[in-house]
Amino acid sequence: MKKLSTTFLFIFVLTIVTSFSQVKFDDYFIDKTLRIDYLHIGNAKTESIVFDKAYEYGMWAGSTKNTIDNFNNGRYYCKVYDVNSGILIFSKGYDTYFGEYRTTTPAINGQTKAYHESVLIPMPNNKIKYTIESRTKEQKLVQIYQTEIDPSDINIIRDNIIDKAVRVYKSHVSGNPHNKVDVVIISEGYDSNEDMKFLEDMKRFTGVFFSQEPYKTYQDKFNIYGIYKPSEESGIDIPLNKIYKKTTVNATFNSLGSDRYLLTDDNKTLRDVAAHAPYDAIYIMVNTSKYGGGGIYNQYATFVNNNVWNEYVFLHEFGHAFAGLGDEYYTSDVSYNDFYPKGIEPTEPNLTALINKDDLKWREFITSGIELPSLWEKAEYEKLDKEWGVERVKLLKNISDLKSSNASESMIKLAEQDYQTAEKKRNDNLDKFFKNSKYAGKVGVYEGGGYSSQGIYRPMVDCIMFSKGKKPYCNVCENAILNMIKFYTE
Ligand SMILES: [Zn+2]
Repeated sequence: MKKLSTTFLFIFVLTIVTSFSQVKFDDYFIDKTLRIDYLHIGNAKTESIVFDKAYEYGMWAGSTKNTIDNFNNGRYYCKVYDVNSGILIFSKGYDTYFGEYRTTTPAINGQTKAYHESVLIPMPNNKIKYTIESRTKEQKLVQIYQTEIDPSDINIIRDNIIDKAVRVYKSHVSGNPHNKVDVVIISEGYDSNEDMKFLEDMKRFTGVFFSQEPYKTYQDKFNIYGIYKPSEESGIDIPLNKIYKKTTVNATFNSLGSDRYLLTDDNKTLRDVAAHAPYDAIYIMVNTSKYGGGGIYNQYATFVNNNVWNEYVFLHEFGHAFAGLGDEYYTSDVSYNDFYPKGIEPTEPNLTALINKDDLKWREFITSGIELPSLWEKAEYEKLDKEWGVERVKLLKNISDLKSSNASESMIKLAEQDYQTAEKKRNDNLDKFFKNSKYAGKVGVYEGGGYSSQGIYRPMVDCIMFSKGKKPYCNVCENAILNMIKFYTE
């Protein structure tokens, strides 16, 4: 009897620690949005928050039932308390550009940088305590900032947010934003003559979105808007080629020193443009043929419109930005150091350090009878990857040699085509390799994931979060996305 009651108490305590219950929306909020802007400043060791401005605008896009986020994803959490009662009335986990910067070599060497960030919450009807929590290396959330905000404060900016240069298009509308996932696709690098191109691309990628599960089955749970604001110039910044373009939200390749990483640090401009429609998730559609993209959880995803891999990038990056999925690949170069410290469980729903087999986050999906960890054909995969790495370097060097020797456009184009053909062949071979794996289609625990060959594990041998190509999310990733859809649409 004693044992039973202790267990019961333990479960009860665990429940109240890890999961907060929802509040009645109308008791604490009105149907408007409060945007809180701040600067996030620091390096690998230090961080601080400096308040910038608060804005009131449009209707609240999120759920009015689920205002407390119990996913426990993301490096940061904003938590909002009603000052009178002390009750937690809103929370949201998220990642930031700053959070990624902290894992880079300059940050580790002590270089301090400032990033502008925003958090959107429903407009409170009384004074709130607004807090931000940051994770320690052990993934524990610790409060790093708090302030009080009075919704009647006359300094909250209540300007008309309409920018006359912006046009909003409805690409797919299925109902009231409170019960839908509201996605905005923002134009980037489309000039004033490319409005029709933007519209065509918006429709094309809306089609790609709904061709992939689970979005396909849950089309009626989404609203998708296109937000077009012409860029002064067509194209995008490619710093390694010394190309700089004046564009709408100032996105750029070579973010954090990685050629293919495409992000913007101009958060204020991005949020001002996005504000033209109610949104839960932001897509930045970049007008370029260069390969690349990026996705930061509960911030935004970027993708390119005109590259052979554009559909893959579009779906992969949304997995990061919308559901907090981690990268399952581990053989490509990245600018991060120790992104997932050894022996510490990542918060991402599709990665594990496998510290405790019985406590595995995707245990309910495991294929019965499979051994944990699951001994997939890892050495063979790495051999294939190494061979491609050597060939890839050779082909890329040829392109850059031609460019620096001012070779003709047609010569460069031929070299680029050679690269694309070789890459396509390599990916076809990889797809065959995964299909022939004795673990194909089975959920287990496969070593190699999160930029780490050892100590981090993924749920299936292949997934769109693992390798390039036209392929589904693995079962665990798909389920994480489904849970997020439910959260926004209840
Ligand atoms: Zn996956």
